[in-house]
Amino acid sequence: MNAQILDGKRLAAEVRAQTREKAAAFTGRTGTAPGLATVLVGDDPASHVYVASKRKMAAAAGIADFHHHLPGPAPEREIAAVLDDLAADPRVSGILLQLPLPAGKDSASLIERIPAGKDVDGLTTTSAGLLSRAAPGLRPCTPSGVIALLDAAGIDLPGKHVAVVGRSQLVGAPLAQMLLHRNATVTVAHSRTADLAAVTREADIVVAAAGREGLITAKHVREGAVVVDVGIHRTPDGLAGDVQFDEVAARASWITPVPGGVGPMTIAMLLANTLQAAAGLG
Ligand code: NAP
Repeated sequence: MNAQILDGKRLAAEVRAQTREKAAAFTGRTGTAPGLATVLVGDDPASHVYVASKRKMAAAAGIADFHHHLPGPAPEREIAAVLDDLAADPRVSGILLQLPLPAGKDSASLIERIPAGKDVDGLTTTSAGLLSRAAPGLRPCTPSGVIALLDAAGIDLPGKHVAVVGRSQLVGAPLAQMLLHRNATVTVAHSRTADLAAVTREADIVVAAAGREGLITAKHVREGAVVVDVGIHRTPDGLAGDVQFDEVAARASWITPVPGGVGPMTIAMLLANTLQAAAGLG
């Protein structure tokens, strides 16, 4: 392997430690801890694990925990009422509606009930609009984590060609905008891209966020490129990403592992967003 590791586990611990300091200062100044509300609907095992991990890390950072667990069959108006109560509660700085919701629920309209100032996942239309204008606001956590990893390694973005593979509202689309605001030249590839390898081979930095295990191979990456793997796949051998790690690491200059790359950064950025929201900077 030639590539150096973009170590998300280490950087996430640093971000969490900084957040803990800011939370302590906020609590000292205002007499109230910043608060994160997590709303979980149903019994999807992966969602349970994610929410438990977010709550544990938030508590460790000195953020107060407001958790609501609703049964899967709960009607949408009940979920909406919980979100509205949290929106009005001054103790709650940030609200996270864990996705995906059980089948049949309209997550888009429920997300819209979260006020932009408490939208710590950065997924409301208002947050997306602020991002598209490069105006201050809360940004989606996973794209923020990708950029923090690149920044921490001293990888310059202005003028670099970045290929983002994936255009979801959660990862690919906001990441492409954030990279543009950092003066990168951005190409966004998706499932209808005709020749993915031809696109990604042109890039200085490749971010794989397609949700396709092992999609990015050595032929997709030019020698010396930076490769960031957002994908998470549970396999019989443990977690895997969208990138064939061994063969790509032999060509890349920097690479994120899975696990231990982007994954831990997502929760760390959620905590940082909660502090930003508490401070009224959301
Ligand atoms: P998603 O909503 O399914 O979006 C996937 C995107 O990839 C779509 O835009 C799709 O194109 C594109 N795509 C699919 N197959 C492709 C192919 N063969 N070539 C090029 N593009 C392709 O997924 P997501 O929510 O963005 O998540 C992506 C991955 O990141 C998943 O593995 C997910 O588990 C992981 N994830 C990780 C974290 C973390 O914290 N590390 C956070 C969120 C998500 P179309 O638009 O044309 O359909």
